[in-house]
Amino acid sequence: MNAEHLESLRKAGRIARDCREWARENIKPGVRLAHILETVEDMMAKEGAAPAFPAQTSRNHVTAHYCSPPGDEQVYEEGDCVKVDVGVHVDGWVADNACTVDLSEDGRWSELIKASEDALHAAIALVGVGVRVSDIGGAVESAIQARGFEPVRNLTGHGVARWKVHCAPQIPSYREGREQLRAGMIIAIEPFASTGVGMIEERGKAEVFMLVRPPRNAKGIDKDLLNAIQAWRGLPIARRYFNNFPPEVLEDTISKLARQGSLVRFPPLVERVGVMTAQTEHTMIVGAEGVEVITA
Ligand code: MN
Ligand code: MN
Repeated sequence: MNAEHLESLRKAGRIARDCREWARENIKPGVRLAHILETVEDMMAKEGAAPAFPAQTSRNHVTAHYCSPPGDEQVYEEGDCVKVDVGVHVDGWVADNACTVDLSEDGRWSELIKASEDALHAAIALVGVGVRVSDIGGAVESAIQARGFEPVRNLTGHGVARWKVHCAPQIPSYREGREQLRAGMIIAIEPFASTGVGMIEERGKAEVFMLVRPPRNAKGIDKDLLNAIQAWRGLPIARRYFNNFPPEVLEDTISKLARQGSLVRFPPLVERVGVMTAQTEHTMIVGAEGVEVITA
């Protein structure tokens, strides 16, 4: 990473933080989910940045990857436990961060949210060159259990890289993994705390996709749409990005690309109904001199 790259990464971090904090202040009962997601993506564009992945907001037992479909009229409700997860890239340099908002009047989810915040802080306090990811995972697990909850075990933190939202190393939320942190790694740590057993599964219709390789056979695929998809350079994308294409063309293209293994779908990740989950996330640079949290 040269000085210009570092500046782009830091800029992505500042914009991601501003988007997250705007969302935290503006998520209220009665507000449309799509309003929050579209507004933070507009904020990025105004700063000369773009989404590293579609902005996402997941309510209650829905833990991650809820992204508004085109025309989504769903609103936040009193009593909700709301995650908002925002990724920004500047010239391909990715910053990923998230927070959780308690929409109950009696502060019902504040302990759960604190558990994920404590876990993130405990993790960041450990980050350094040579530290094992298992030790970070152990700190996450202990912090969450200290408040009486369970970490979500099948979601992990991750490395980020240029034009890549997820890469090695995986940062688990329990004591597992032999990999060690190295100087220059950029990592996102994102503990999820759960009132349930701490396991999520894919459920529901995917709104988020990722082109993992160019199609082997582009016959019958709309050229303009394929170009528009490829312009995202393999970053995750959402159905609502392509509202200017006829829906039937979009659906046909998604299924053709998916059938060839060229496009991967990311459905919502959910716990059992009635279980609540909270997420807190920062992106940071592992430096020889110490950690720099770029989304703080
Ligand atoms: Mn995230
Ligand atoms: Mn992440």
